[in-house]
Amino acid sequence: MYRSPFQEIDLPSRPLDEYILEGASERGDHPALVDAASGRTITYAELAELVGSVAAGLADAGLKPGEVLAVYAPNSLFYPVACLAAARAGAAVTLVNALATAKDLARQLQDAEARILFTVSALLPTVREAGGTVREVFVLDEAADHRSIGDLARSGAGRPAADAPRRSADTALLPYSSGTSGAPKGVVLTHGNVTANIAQMSHALEVTPDHRVLAVLPFFHAYGFSTLIGVTLRSGATLVVLPRFDLAGFLDVLTGQRITHALVAPPIALALAKHPLVEGRDFSSIRQLLSAAAPLKPELAEMVHRRIGVPVVQAYGMTELSPGAHVPPRGQTPPPGSVGKPLPSTECRLVSPESGLDVAPGAEGELWIRGPQVMRGYLGRPTETAEVVDEDGWLHTGDLARVDEDGWFFISDRVKELIKYKGYQVLPGELEAVLLTHPGVADAAVVGVVDEDGMETPRAYVVAAPGAGGSGAGAALTAEAVMEYVAARVAPYKKVRSVAFLDALPRSNAGKILRRELRNLAAGAGPAG
Ligand code: AMP
Repeated sequence: MYRSPFQEIDLPSRPLDEYILEGASERGDHPALVDAASGRTITYAELAELVGSVAAGLADAGLKPGEVLAVYAPNSLFYPVACLAAARAGAAVTLVNALATAKDLARQLQDAEARILFTVSALLPTVREAGGTVREVFVLDEAADHRSIGDLARSGAGRPAADAPRRSADTALLPYSSGTSGAPKGVVLTHGNVTANIAQMSHALEVTPDHRVLAVLPFFHAYGFSTLIGVTLRSGATLVVLPRFDLAGFLDVLTGQRITHALVAPPIALALAKHPLVEGRDFSSIRQLLSAAAPLKPELAEMVHRRIGVPVVQAYGMTELSPGAHVPPRGQTPPPGSVGKPLPSTECRLVSPESGLDVAPGAEGELWIRGPQVMRGYLGRPTETAEVVDEDGWLHTGDLARVDEDGWFFISDRVKELIKYKGYQVLPGELEAVLLTHPGVADAAVVGVVDEDGMETPRAYVVAAPGAGGSGAGAALTAEAVMEYVAARVAPYKKVRSVAFLDALPRSNAGKILRRELRNLAAGAGPAG
């Protein structure tokens, strides 16, 4: 068993909103949130007040403690306000991927039993299409036919909500994740889980009020939520919010807004390493970039460091861990490729998936994690929960890792079926189900293929139905047709990005797809199209 190098920390006992906003009123005019595009600012004093009045407005609008409120929106100044106000009103917040289709949204709203929804005007058509059990929709911007968060703030102004009961074991956040298998499930993160993780990360990283942190990773992902909204605002630093990613805009903000720290996903590191737009800019305000959500090749991190003079370090986590497990401890330089060391009050084991025993020092094993940040479970799914969290409280991550003699962790592979495209979860099973509805497809399997930069994309291996052709001239079923078919039916980040035809899929005697064989095939085959 590996323990954290940090001393144990006292776990917070306050509810999430209060914990994050502790000290906010006293920070007065210090900017809490800045819109990167418009420059509009919410100061800490305004944030503290807004959260109170929006919470009161939500109570007026009928939101009851224990109900679920959904946020389906890209990053904006009012996203953190909506979440913290919902928590203040005693609601659990389900975070919906802003790229979700109407079908994905409907499924999550229904599964979470969301009663109130925050969105933005641009997503209202998708919200209408999704329909469902939501009583009322509010926008974070403005829309002719919907009340806005501004209306809620006015309704509750000067009249802070009566303190809703929020115990440590109550649900604070309900993001969705497929975990180690199957369809997306509601990950029940309690006030205790999320505040513990914010405390753990705040202790291990160093964020101070003079930091200007760029919020480019989405708030709807647990990483964005806990590190950006959680650690940054709790620390009194300034969060510069970028609603959507385009490289030029991102670079302008990074260099023009005196950003000191940014949390990125590997594709941004790739752009910083290689894209011509990066040339000739002044990155001198930036002290460190932290990459998480998917593997980052050490060569890329090194290229970024050489090119722009900024170190890129990695953190590791999983939605089910609220989400942080490993970060590089403040003041220490991790060896290339390491994801850091376990957070305070976090224990790790590396277990052989074959024998179920702890592996020898230095050897690779499945990473198991125990700590106060381990989710309470999947919403309404005790069986799936028990498959991931064992009776001793160990979360089996489905990731393979090793530890060096100095205690640095390295993630080496993934045993679960998940594909990570730009840090987003793509589920092979969902894409396979779509592929099998195509009349020309007799069998299909989807695996992640990793390119030379370490970026993973979904590839479909397809067995064409008799008469539907496959590869070869004149064949009816082409790779393009297969990709278009899937693209028309799933959110853009889930698209199949390459297709290869096979005569039969490799299957075990029991009929299970041998994914490792397909991944090996993909690794050896180079780009297919
Ligand atoms: P999610 O729940 O969407 O955050 O996905 C969690 C998964 O992302 C982990 O179980 C890993 O497979 C992967 N992941 C996250 N951070 C890293 C990292 N730094 N290196 C490698 N894989 C990572």
